[in-house]
Amino acid sequence: MVNWNEIDTVLLDMDGTLLDLHFDNLFWMEHLPRRYAEIKGEEHAAARHRLIEQFRAEYGTLNWYSVDYWSQELGLDVRALKEELRHLIVIRPHVEEFLARLHRGPRRVLLVTNAHRKSLDLKMEETGLDRWFDAIVCSHDFGMAKEHPGFWAAMNAVEPFNPERTLLIDDNSAVLESARTYGIRWLLSLLQPDSTREPRHVEDFPAILHFDAIMPELAHIDA
Ligand SMILES: [Mg+2]
Repeated sequence: MVNWNEIDTVLLDMDGTLLDLHFDNLFWMEHLPRRYAEIKGEEHAAARHRLIEQFRAEYGTLNWYSVDYWSQELGLDVRALKEELRHLIVIRPHVEEFLARLHRGPRRVLLVTNAHRKSLDLKMEETGLDRWFDAIVCSHDFGMAKEHPGFWAAMNAVEPFNPERTLLIDDNSAVLESARTYGIRWLLSLLQPDSTREPRHVEDFPAILHFDAIMPELAHIDA
């Protein structure tokens, strides 16, 4: 699935890949609608229905991922509401061992996320994962989500990588598709981004359940 000898850059998604997507699913589908209804004094079911429709309309765009956009759109402090659930921000199994091994090895390791800076900061504060990366790339800085075909070229201009020798691991098939269009050779998805949902079927891309399936060797690292 992964030949480590042919890879010198590793690009890793955050939500649903390194972190359990349960936090995000619960936040957007349950917590935010409930708190919105409380704060605005609206009926819960109707408010939830309307909000979920509103989220869907922005799916896959930068707005969809933007704390500032939704704070303004809904007249709420979205980052503060996320704080209320921060105990549910959880690292997926085997991720720390995987990152520790990569960190000791020769490859460049980047976090590449559509998460808004305010979300990213909260999650790094909570998990401490930022210490493992050579760089952290936030798609909002490029004005394009990772789903956008132009994103990878824009990123490559700032954080150069050879697409032929790069591995991207991301739970979002639309993102993997845009990376494939750009020419990134090694692409991997996740079978269970949200630990509370059943593992899914992933079409078009190889997929792993957990990172123990592709652990880089420790042995050849120290030369
Ligand atoms: Mg993701």
